[in-house]
Amino acid sequence: MIGAMLGEIDKIEKEGRHKWVYSYGNGEVEGDPTMRNLLGGKGVGLAEMTQIGIPVPPGFTVTTEVCNYYYDHGNKYPDDLWDQVFEAMGKIEKYNNKKFGDVNDPLLVSCRSGARVSMPGMMDTILNLGLNDQTVVGLATKSGNERFAYDSYRRFLQMFGDICMHVPHSNFEKVLSGIKEKNKVKLDQELTVDMLKDVITEYKKMVKDTTGKDFIQDVKEQLKAAIHGVFGSWNNERAITYRNLNDIPHNWGTAVNIVSMVFGNMGDTSATGVAFTRNPATGDKIFYGEYLINAQGEDVVAGIRTPQQISKEGKAAQHSDLPCMEEAMPALYKQLDEIRDKLEKHYKDMQDIEFTVQDGKLYLLQQRSGKRTAKAAVKIAADLVKEGIVDKEKALTLIDAKSINQLLHPQIDPKATKEVMIRGLPASPGAACGTIVFNAHDAGVKCKDGPVILLREETSPDDITGMHVAKGVVTARGGMTSHAAVVARGMGAPCITGAGDMIIDFDKKTVKFGDKYELKEGDWISISGDTGEVYKGQVPTVEPGISGDFETVMKWADDIRHLEVEANAETPRDAKQARDFGAEGIGLVRTEHMFFDPKKIVSMRKMIVAETPEEKKKALDELLPYQTKDFEDLFTIMDGLPVTIRLLDPPLHEFLPKTDEDMETLAKDIGVPAEKIKERAAGLKESNPMLGDRGCRLGISRPEITEMQAKAILTAAMNVAKKGVKVYPKIMIPLAMSKRELQVMKDIIDKEKAKLEEANNLQIPYMFGTMIELPRASLVADQLAEYAHFFSFGTNDLTQTTFGISRDDFSYHDVYRKQGIIDADPFAVLDAKGVGKLIENAVTKGKSVRPALRCGICGEHGGDPKSIQYADSIGLDYVSCSPFRIPIARLAAAQAVVLNKKK
Ligand code: PEP
Ligand code: MG
Repeated sequence: MIGAMLGEIDKIEKEGRHKWVYSYGNGEVEGDPTMRNLLGGKGVGLAEMTQIGIPVPPGFTVTTEVCNYYYDHGNKYPDDLWDQVFEAMGKIEKYNNKKFGDVNDPLLVSCRSGARVSMPGMMDTILNLGLNDQTVVGLATKSGNERFAYDSYRRFLQMFGDICMHVPHSNFEKVLSGIKEKNKVKLDQELTVDMLKDVITEYKKMVKDTTGKDFIQDVKEQLKAAIHGVFGSWNNERAITYRNLNDIPHNWGTAVNIVSMVFGNMGDTSATGVAFTRNPATGDKIFYGEYLINAQGEDVVAGIRTPQQISKEGKAAQHSDLPCMEEAMPALYKQLDEIRDKLEKHYKDMQDIEFTVQDGKLYLLQQRSGKRTAKAAVKIAADLVKEGIVDKEKALTLIDAKSINQLLHPQIDPKATKEVMIRGLPASPGAACGTIVFNAHDAGVKCKDGPVILLREETSPDDITGMHVAKGVVTARGGMTSHAAVVARGMGAPCITGAGDMIIDFDKKTVKFGDKYELKEGDWISISGDTGEVYKGQVPTVEPGISGDFETVMKWADDIRHLEVEANAETPRDAKQARDFGAEGIGLVRTEHMFFDPKKIVSMRKMIVAETPEEKKKALDELLPYQTKDFEDLFTIMDGLPVTIRLLDPPLHEFLPKTDEDMETLAKDIGVPAEKIKERAAGLKESNPMLGDRGCRLGISRPEITEMQAKAILTAAMNVAKKGVKVYPKIMIPLAMSKRELQVMKDIIDKEKAKLEEANNLQIPYMFGTMIELPRASLVADQLAEYAHFFSFGTNDLTQTTFGISRDDFSYHDVYRKQGIIDADPFAVLDAKGVGKLIENAVTKGKSVRPALRCGICGEHGGDPKSIQYADSIGLDYVSCSPFRIPIARLAAAQAVVLNKKK
């Protein structure tokens, strides 16, 4: 689909010039739709619409390459850039039959940003470029509308002064309000030509006073400065924050689009509007948008005039009394409606468009895929298949997999009024409302009277019981993979982490949210784990409705995905939830989470402080029936599906109480001197606990723990099998780095197995495997595969140990992204270039020894769509993630098949 002007490109390339600028107009285009990375979304859209015969004002695009060239070459542009820009300007002049800077009939252009993916409102735009003291006179005469001409010039001065000359926007506002006050007018529309001329004179004076420079009158210099200004806006604070929040790499750069101006403010036969081809909130097939007669784009969104609906259906849905475009401009509406249809069929998706009518002639100024709610996304995907516009595979790619979280959790009622007190990281989705508590114990007591929200500095495994009963959790510290975040996601409870503006006084049981709010235990708050916002008081929530379309779409996903989806779950509640959401097994049981139940923790602690083998054995004997029961429950719930149990992983000190007071309570409970507990805690203290006595190191140095866990797993398997449950136990070794470790652990398990089999005269088969969480494990994976029948990549630890960055306090990731050191937080999105290479190496080496080796990911990445796409691309067998991410993973695994096929 190369445009008619390809000859032009060839010519430039033959002459040895690099092409920095691509033009389009009157049905002719340079470039093609695959050039999105180079031309940006807006640029490629304008060219493509031109090509398929949709009316678009002629223009050209300066590529994203120029933006990157500028930043990579010490803020310098390519030598031949401006020649190419002015050549392209010559083409627009030809198409429009008007000259840029002509004092009698000037061509005016807009200068707008356009990155690969849309970053709505984050970068800058300059309209009416090409106006100066002379051309404004020509525009006034030619249009026969003096007010329009001077108002356009006034707007241009304001935008250009702000973006290209860095004059604060407020300075212009001050001048404008001064003149309005002097003339006793309230609205911009009431300014007469003379008043506008005064505004222009005062603006120019103010610009000179502020910058020491005259306002640029040379239109060519204006164009250069505008392009420079818009490229500069790629790195404004808003844009950087938006990229950080949306995982958009900072090195993509923006393109700049120069487009002939068309005016919606030339009288009552002109108009401007924005529309979605379907309702973006519900997905209903109605033409949904707003427009204004005799207005410029910004007037529609500025809120000064009430915009009118596009269609009769939209008017009814919005209960609007104002005439809609379908009624006021029926012929133009019909043309727009046909374009709507053409665009949906061409782009095979719901579209978001901007249009202008200039003196009775319709132009499209932008198209892009419309942003939509999860509910709308699912409905639109299902409808587009029914309408024959897309096939099922394409339909699945139209849904943002992460967004379907919205369909699984209660949400803050979008209609509710709310007061945001602070914001943190949206660590686990959903909304909750409850009274404040500050520790797990109080949560346990107060939850009997009503819902509670647990506020902590950070959480430790000690807080698990409190997190279980709380409706939501907020922590002042910690990132997206901190303990609180992982556990809350597992439970499906809303959680906000890293809320640095929350200052807790644990003694007084009060909390400050920023400077403005101070609350105490028992006060009501509401939280949204989707936005990271903490609200004052009780904000109503709504239960999400899972529609039939949702089920249909998930069925399509299951039909095409290759990756199996398992769950990270250890409680019966999580396991049931996971099964309901379609999990095909449990890929990770973190057994340590089972020990935090108040009954079990005491025996665990007794075992840790025990001095003699007898004392240790006694404590473990107490734990054994609890563990056995836990596993029986899981096996029964997962009847017919595999359950992968990881032996104890964290360092033992995590199980001991932290404060003196809690240690004294424990001393009394288990009948040993408090000093002994303190001594034991001090003895277990390690400088780098994450790299310390944990994982299988623990199971090897304290084989009695491994023995107890093996016995519990195999006894449970035997017990439920006797009741007719189909049980597939898998035993997984954490943090292994050598074949010998696996051999030692397997020997302990097999000894227990042999004893049990003999005593019961029954075979208890199990599958043996290992986590891969250390670079060394990847390097010796062929040796590990001699014992392991499966590899489960613990990508949380593997990322931590590969990068040498702590998974719990990677607080500087924004700085790292801004500096281009990393593209995304590697704890959220798998680092394919580094960590991924270790995974690929381990798979290849492992399969060289054991071709049937089963490989999957069970770190947090197992629920992240981009990481899932990567897992599919290297042919892994499964991913495992928390129950509430199972539907996301099922959908993302299907999308991965489609996207990887395209590659
Ligand atoms: C991992 O490291 O990725 C993993 C799943 O184990 P954990 O998060 O429990 O350390
Ligand atoms: Mg781990």
